[in-house]
Amino acid sequence: MDQGVKNLMNSILELTELDFSGMSAIRRTIHRNPELSFQEFETSKYIQSVLSDLNVEHQVIAGTGVVAHIGTGAKCVALRADIDALPILEETDLEFSSVNPGVMHACGHDMHTTMLLSAAKILKGCEAELNGVVKLLFQPGEEKSPGGASLMIAGGALQNPTPTMIFGQHINPGATCGEVSFVSGPMMAAADELYFTVRGFGAHAAQPQTGRDPIVAAAGLIQHLQTLITRRRNPLLPGVLSITSIHGGSATNIIPEVVEMKGTLRAFDQEWREFAWEFIVDATEKFCALHGCQGTVEILKGYPPLVNDDGATNFARSVATSMFGDERVTDFEPKMWAEDFSFYGEQIPACFWMLGGRPAELEFMPGLHNSKFAPDERAMVTGAALLAQVAVNALAQG
Ligand SMILES: [Zn+2]
Ligand SMILES: [Zn+2]
Repeated sequence: MDQGVKNLMNSILELTELDFSGMSAIRRTIHRNPELSFQEFETSKYIQSVLSDLNVEHQVIAGTGVVAHIGTGAKCVALRADIDALPILEETDLEFSSVNPGVMHACGHDMHTTMLLSAAKILKGCEAELNGVVKLLFQPGEEKSPGGASLMIAGGALQNPTPTMIFGQHINPGATCGEVSFVSGPMMAAADELYFTVRGFGAHAAQPQTGRDPIVAAAGLIQHLQTLITRRRNPLLPGVLSITSIHGGSATNIIPEVVEMKGTLRAFDQEWREFAWEFIVDATEKFCALHGCQGTVEILKGYPPLVNDDGATNFARSVATSMFGDERVTDFEPKMWAEDFSFYGEQIPACFWMLGGRPAELEFMPGLHNSKFAPDERAMVTGAALLAQVAVNALAQG
């Protein structure tokens, strides 16, 4: 390893440690003032003000997104954080709880944003030693279709200059604070939203023969779809279909006209995913027709699967291991969650890692999207240092 990079490695960890109280203050400001996807107006302004204070050149993109550049030269590497919050009423009782009722940073994006700002500070401090440009992406709307990442890309975020690799991270409530986990290849699933309508013919409940019962049809359809998802799928390819909402009817003595259902389809394999779209539509129509009902389904296609590039992942993992040692670097088991970082991975080699956020004294903490989600802020030292170091080393590589 180049001696300059080695020296930077020691100093980046130390500098991030020194920046912890500053990070904590920034994180609490963002946490207290959460904003929903694509409405991150104040958050965006705040990020811009922190970058301006650091003399980091930046511009607004995709409405509320921010792109910043540090360094000069032909080489470029990108780091990404998401900035949006969720429609959840916070119940953590933290002193810096949300002041926007019904909106909460329950997915850790406040910490992701803060870590990238701390990395910006450290990288700006060693800008003269950087062997190229670090592109920082503060991305809106991760939690909402069509995903802020796709809008950032459409807005030119990966151009002028184009990075050779991109890295991102997510707080992981399932791992202890400071642990970093990696997986090569498929990491998170493609997620599609399903909206079903089963239309029958209303009748008196005591005379079902005069109507067409959409409740019985919907109940059978749920079972039928669960059967198909096991019978029409190669068992070696992961896939899940969950019906998560069902609404119909209003009284004990009325067979209703219509039942509406919602659900999600998760898959890694694109070919199988497209096949599933077809058989879900076909089965819904045919199964409901058996009951004299009309079944339709609207499929809202979501994020592509998140697939980590082998080279980028091996590289980031080796940087993490040299910084934190083997015992803090672990394997991540892929999940059927979805994450719009996947859009970047469709364009350039990408690696997304998980950063343990569970306080060391707890065996369990409320998970992502829970109203009591409260990760350990100390995780930010690990995450910010790793972001900065990965960028420095990636640019230093031959
Ligand atoms: Zn989330
Ligand atoms: Zn998230």
